[in-house]
Amino acid sequence: MSGSPPTPPLPGDLVLVPAPGLAIRALPDGRLFVAATGAAGPGRMLALGGVAEADLRFVLDQLDGRRTVTEVLDRVADSDDERRAVAGLLASLERRGLLAAPERAPTRAATRTATEDPASRPAATPPIERPVSSAVPRSSGSVTVTGAPAKPATVGIVGGGTAGHLTALALRRVHPEIAVTLIESPDVPVIGVGEATTPLLPQFLHADLGLDVHRLFREVRPTLKLGIRFGWGEGEGFSYPFGALDLSWPPDPADPSDRVEPARRAASGPARSLLDDCSLGAALMAAGALPLVPEDGSMDGSRELSALRSGLGTEVAYHLENRRFTAYLAGRAAAAGVRRLEARIETVERVEPAAPAAGGEGIAALHTADGRRLTFDLYVDCSGFRSLLMGGGTDRRGSPFRSYERSLFTDGAVIGTVARRAPEDGRLLPHTVATARSAGWSWRIPQEGEDHLGAVFCAAHGTAEEAEAELRAAHPGLGPVRSLRFRPGRREHFWRGNTVALGNAYGFVEPLESTAIHLAIRQILLLIDHLPLPADPAERRALQERLNRRVADHWDYVAWFLALHFKYNRRLDTPFWRACRAEVDIARHGELIEAFRAHGPLSGQEPGFAYPDPLWGPEGIDVLLFGQGVPCPRPVLPSGVAAARSRRRAGWRRLAERALPAADALRLLSAQPVLLEGLAEAFRRHGPASAVLAGASPNPGNSEAATP
Ligand SMILES: Cc1cc2nc3c(=O)[nH]c(=O)nc-3n(C[C@H](O)[C@H](O)[C@H](O)COP(=O)(O)OP(=O)(O)OC[C@H]3O[C@@H](n4cnc5c(N)ncnc54)[C@H](O)[C@@H]3O)c2cc1C
Repeated sequence: MSGSPPTPPLPGDLVLVPAPGLAIRALPDGRLFVAATGAAGPGRMLALGGVAEADLRFVLDQLDGRRTVTEVLDRVADSDDERRAVAGLLASLERRGLLAAPERAPTRAATRTATEDPASRPAATPPIERPVSSAVPRSSGSVTVTGAPAKPATVGIVGGGTAGHLTALALRRVHPEIAVTLIESPDVPVIGVGEATTPLLPQFLHADLGLDVHRLFREVRPTLKLGIRFGWGEGEGFSYPFGALDLSWPPDPADPSDRVEPARRAASGPARSLLDDCSLGAALMAAGALPLVPEDGSMDGSRELSALRSGLGTEVAYHLENRRFTAYLAGRAAAAGVRRLEARIETVERVEPAAPAAGGEGIAALHTADGRRLTFDLYVDCSGFRSLLMGGGTDRRGSPFRSYERSLFTDGAVIGTVARRAPEDGRLLPHTVATARSAGWSWRIPQEGEDHLGAVFCAAHGTAEEAEAELRAAHPGLGPVRSLRFRPGRREHFWRGNTVALGNAYGFVEPLESTAIHLAIRQILLLIDHLPLPADPAERRALQERLNRRVADHWDYVAWFLALHFKYNRRLDTPFWRACRAEVDIARHGELIEAFRAHGPLSGQEPGFAYPDPLWGPEGIDVLLFGQGVPCPRPVLPSGVAAARSRRRAGWRRLAERALPAADALRLLSAQPVLLEGLAEAFRRHGPASAVLAGASPNPGNSEAATP
């Protein structure tokens, strides 16, 4: 830094914080001011991650010399940690236009505001680096059958719900030369549910799509989710937090047997069950807190606060009010150049089998109710349960539906809202709640000022009215409810000819694990990653078959994982639950259950199985089986490990006790951009969702690399 001594940032100043504890301010004369916001007081530079103060000064000096990001990185970072920390800092500056990417003329002038949304940047803005997955050759023009692969020049997305908008944003982001039109019918509303999510969503929104966290908080007002609390199994129920879990349990001198039922032990033992402190997230859930800790114990935000940084990005998801979220996505899509068309698609004109243009099984055009004929190179079906293009209604040429009715019995839901009332029910929870009910289960999703409730039921064992009555009994202030029906299952094809299906248009499994948006994101990433398809018809077909198999396997695994929740739940003895225990079919991956029963937690075993999704992998299965009291041998912990484990757990509990209650934490996050930016940085640090898909280990330093 050079020039006159900078003044510390004041509230309301343009403060850009690339990492918790560090503020960077663009001064009116174009210089940057770097200041610590931590306990050392403003104006002093502190270490940032692995970067020492001297290195930070050096970084900024290098920028003075008008070097490119890559050059600076190469000069200043010795270790991987340093490289990551400096890359995070530089990427954050670059994202805001404060710094030049390699291809651009360097400038240090502050050209953007802290809240500007990168999605609205001109499409041609170059990235610092691009992930290999999106480094596709640029081309345009219609889809051709022979010759070099050509990207579709035009994509038509039918559906303006979450799936449609996320797809549109991703296409514009990664393939900006494609013209994207999103068609939605003014008289077919979005489904209006889909509010509990997984950590893949913030990762996708902020690292892949580059959407600004400040704007999202302003417009959508999400709450944060650390996991799911299950009123399930035995006793108090159990928590299933996001993130890595420590599922070992200590030797118990009072219990010499090597077969134990952890949930039963927990129920009769100390108040905190085994699963309640299997991670920091679990301890926070038990405390009703979020990972924001006042350093001096104050709760009013006037003193120092520090966001817990370790792994935050992997452990937090959003609860989103669906219509606000969809409206927000629509705004972002418009800013990213997505064309919106209000029209009701009435008929789908199919390519005749012999026609070559789409491999003989594609769409030729969409016909709207007002008489228009719309044609695109690629059609994306996000029309919800109607599955207008892929399913095709009564058209026998639609992709066959593969039902999950042998393993998932629920097929209806009632949905409503209740105001949170203090003191008894007034707490904003940092997690979703799922509670077993007579003929299904109910959810509680905390939103701003109210909880969104719903009950999922099995029509063979109960009616919507009965589900509603049970929900009202548990939540007396429940407002009016609406009901809907669904069919568990999926389409055979994710991508067929020139048509792709996503979201509810591809399939649906009941929402117990908030799987739908997560699965849609995974499919969106596959779509953008595989454009353009090979020009050769045989190759193209083979690739589509592989992708269809991969998506189907993923969905089938998730359906199986959900089925475990029903097979082993002994909490209620009603006809529905008896039928679940007797008839739910979990044979598909029965070997995993056998391995758990024979050898103990799957998370402690050599993986002999390729789990299709890290979020619902071996630890997830362990949690469900522990939580529902399925017996397994107790793993033997060496004494040193047991002691370390106890210390770790005690540490999590202490931190959780000091952390802010969820409502206070959210208020502060919304009021203090510095804190919110810390959260954003944690999301970005975990890297793009596309890295998860590729199976690559997250590379925090490159998180901005996926956001051209
Ligand atoms: C009871 C229940 C609870 C759920 N809870 C969760 C949850 O907690 N978490 C989660 O991730 N998911 C959940 N889901 C799934 C959720 O619905 C989806 O994740 C999400 O909302 C995606 O919906 P969508 O975009 O596929 O469809 P929709 O939101 O239904 O959008 C369909 C779009 O298609 C358009 N359309 C339809 N027909 C036509 C036509 N003929 N012409 C033009 N346009 C048309 C409509 O106008 C609309 O814009 C839940 C689902 C149910 C049923």
